[in-house]
Amino acid sequence: MSQTFVIVGGDAAGMSAASKVKRDAPETEVIVFEKGQWVSYAACGMPYYVKGDVESLEDLVAVTPEEFVEERDVDLRLGHEVVAVDADARTVTVEADGESFEQPYDTLLIGTGAHAIVPPFEGTDLDGVFTIHDMDSARAIREALGVDAAPGADLGDMGYGAEAAEYTDMAAPDTVAVVGGGYVGVEMAEAFAAHDLEVHLFEMLPHVLQPFGEAAAEVVEDHLREQGVHLHLETRVEAFEGEGRVQRVVTEDGETPADLVVVGVGVAPNVDLAEDAGIELGPTGAIATDEYGRTSAEDVFAAGDCAEATNTVTGEPDHVPLALTANRAGRAIGQTVAGDPTPVGETAGTATVKAFDLEVARTGVIDDEEARDAGFDPVSVTITAPSRAHYYPGGSELTITMVADGPTGTLLGASIVGGEDVPKRVDTVAAALHAGMTVDEVENLDLAYAPPFSPVWDPVLTAAKVLAGKVEAARETAEA
Ligand SMILES: Cc1cc2nc3c(=O)[nH]c(=O)nc-3n(C[C@H](O)[C@H](O)[C@H](O)COP(=O)(O)OP(=O)(O)OC[C@H]3O[C@@H](n4cnc5c(N)ncnc54)[C@H](O)[C@@H]3O)c2cc1C
Repeated sequence: MSQTFVIVGGDAAGMSAASKVKRDAPETEVIVFEKGQWVSYAACGMPYYVKGDVESLEDLVAVTPEEFVEERDVDLRLGHEVVAVDADARTVTVEADGESFEQPYDTLLIGTGAHAIVPPFEGTDLDGVFTIHDMDSARAIREALGVDAAPGADLGDMGYGAEAAEYTDMAAPDTVAVVGGGYVGVEMAEAFAAHDLEVHLFEMLPHVLQPFGEAAAEVVEDHLREQGVHLHLETRVEAFEGEGRVQRVVTEDGETPADLVVVGVGVAPNVDLAEDAGIELGPTGAIATDEYGRTSAEDVFAAGDCAEATNTVTGEPDHVPLALTANRAGRAIGQTVAGDPTPVGETAGTATVKAFDLEVARTGVIDDEEARDAGFDPVSVTITAPSRAHYYPGGSELTITMVADGPTGTLLGASIVGGEDVPKRVDTVAAALHAGMTVDEVENLDLAYAPPFSPVWDPVLTAAKVLAGKVEAARETAEA
């Protein structure tokens, strides 16, 4: 008799698992419940849709619902919300079209993702105040900008976009406020600036892009200012005000006019379903999982933004709500369910972001306090180096911060900012982290060189060399 694999959530984690099971064990019945109308969509592309680099939201969809049903034989149910899991009875309760039913499963994957955090400000319900976490909000923001949100389509006839339709007749904004200087906030600042809007970016911490480290953040902040973004650092937003539609942002320092606001202050994992079913959460607040993505309930897996993963540097549970983590874990769980037990893999927290003409990337542990909390004694260096041979035209200065554990010399992490080839250089560091290398070993890596692409000593090698020297000096001081 064929097994029934039920998946809750139809995006990166859920659809990766569905596709993998159908490929490896086609006889498995795969049922996906997705409460919305979109599946397999690239939320990561939404800032570029708002900016206008991507014309249509549909371009962000990797595989359409029809393809999942007709070509991959997945029983995909859109507009179906799973409201309860009974792990003893092995059933989920599903609500759709005002009806409720029970669906039995043999194995279950919870891939419910995360939600945008909405801080408890006054005025978050005003028109013109958005988060950007789902496709409909991206469409609504573009509609509010006065840019055709659904080129070639009639919004009113579509099954989604009701929120966007509200904005069709509203006056386009002049001044936009972005609350939160994380990677989504920085991407949205660039998106709005492309529409020639006055952009104000509010961040309550001393720097934007906190996970990328101070050195990278300072370079980004200078660049944002050069691009005309009004940066309000160490500024806590207290409220939004306006008559029906937002008109200003209130901070502890005063008021700033804004007729469109995007709040991007982070995400929290969607864990209610798991928690209500008695499934254990981990120390980060996301669903606790083992190396195969199994939860504390038998035959129930969790993956993606709702679940924890193991940090490859600290060995501790971590919550890294990023796309590859979700896709990779979903695919591995699909393989496991199909009969080939496959670990979901560890995460180094590798991430990258474009900030206008700059590229910024990070991997591993670069924060001193985080390193100490994980039991390391961090030593770090920050260097600048050219991205190409000094005589070759073009190129850009790269700033690299690299961190190692003093006593062992083990590489802990790095961040890089500059004008070109930044993510690929961080990927080298990420590979070294997964291999558990020391800085000496990184210093001796055989990396590609030709004048248009790097100096003979790639900046990653230079950073490792300088760091290795500092680690050695720290060791000698400790021994003296
Ligand atoms: C603006 C933005 C930019 C981003 N940029 C990047 C980037 O550049 N790089 C990167 O790595 N990551 C990026 N991300 C993060 C990335 O999109 C997520 O990590 C990824 O989508 C997580 O996939 P997931 O399947 O775990 O969750 P989600 O994509 O959130 O999907 C979960 C799905 O589950 C559904 N669901 C939830 N609860 C239920 C229920 N009870 N019943 C039925 N269905 C349910 C939801 O409707 C949703 O469709 C970005 C995210 C955003 C919002």
